[in-house]
Amino acid sequence: MKRISAEYIFTGKKILKRGIIELNSNGEITKVTDTGGKISEQQSLEFYNGVIVPGFVNAHCHLELSHMKGMIKNTTVKGLPGFIDEIISKRNFPDNLQDYIEKADKEMQMKGIVAVGDISNTDDSFTIKKNSSIYYQTFIEAFTVSNEKVIETFEQAANNYYKLKKLNLSGTIVPHAAYTVPHNLYEMISKYKNETSKIISVHNQETPGEDELIKNKTGTLAEVLIKKGFQLKDFSYPGNSALETNLYYLNKKDNILLIHNTFSKEKDIETAENFSDNIYWVFCPLSNLYIEKTLPNLPVFFKKNVKTCIGTDSYASNTELSILSEMKVIIENYPEIPFEQLIKSATINGAKALKIQNKYGSIETGKTPGLNLITKFDFEKMTLKPESSVKVLVS
Ligand SMILES: [Zn+2]
Repeated sequence: MKRISAEYIFTGKKILKRGIIELNSNGEITKVTDTGGKISEQQSLEFYNGVIVPGFVNAHCHLELSHMKGMIKNTTVKGLPGFIDEIISKRNFPDNLQDYIEKADKEMQMKGIVAVGDISNTDDSFTIKKNSSIYYQTFIEAFTVSNEKVIETFEQAANNYYKLKKLNLSGTIVPHAAYTVPHNLYEMISKYKNETSKIISVHNQETPGEDELIKNKTGTLAEVLIKKGFQLKDFSYPGNSALETNLYYLNKKDNILLIHNTFSKEKDIETAENFSDNIYWVFCPLSNLYIEKTLPNLPVFFKKNVKTCIGTDSYASNTELSILSEMKVIIENYPEIPFEQLIKSATINGAKALKIQNKYGSIETGKTPGLNLITKFDFEKMTLKPESSVKVLVS
């Protein structure tokens, strides 16, 4: 048994000053005590000068692209259309891809990440996911350039889905984005295994040209897609925005993870929230700065108290896979967002999005969320400092 305390504990649901967490040898929490800030000398109590938070949930990653660190320069890429152009020509998988994926998985463990929503276009990451201590929800992502390729694309995704199930890993088939999934393919994805509620992820409103493409099939994004062989006549794009197109096809009962939302407006937030109670807004700020050089209007999302999550995206558009670093850049740009809300985005909200809140996301009796210690914390403002760092206390 272990007894742990720190200056503050952010349980994912509330803040305890010098609370005490008791765990058994499996890392399962057996008791959480609110001491009201006063702990008398206790035998075998480990006390830390920092704040303890639950293990992080990375709601969006592409492990498969772990070999791409630095391949697309953030100094030369100017927006998603150019990024897509480069990624399609540079993504060729190297022979030692497994080494890169394994290293990325280990890095996430070291940085206190316990669960990941991970995009897969191939089965390259499955074995490493199977053997990892991280919980993975795999999103087998489908997209294609024309109607002609729909059946082949879906069969390939279904084939990967069965490989995943054989390994006893959790996953679903998901659309890449509104603009890369022809009508027939989006319908097939939506209807597949639809007896129960699924978890769906889709890239949404990452670049301004997305909505223009949906409305008029014009703009720089349209130009890049045409250059890459997309037959835009096969894409019906119902709705007036990428968000509306996605909602047209998606099921209300599924958990819907909308990824990026860099250019989503207040009206979009309301549209999605009116559509379903299961919308999760996933933000990858470092990736947005890398590609689009801007951030989503995060204070609006936090003010509306919608379900926000945090993701790292991949090494193709990030220099590290760290939820702490994503939180730091949010606080640096939007200091008005309270750390308490941000930590919910990094833990319990992600756990709910991936439907693993019975085990992960908050420090509560019966759960095995993992425990992280954040040191060099700003106790005066109760928020992160640029030099704050994370250490895994219980994995
Ligand atoms: Zn992505």
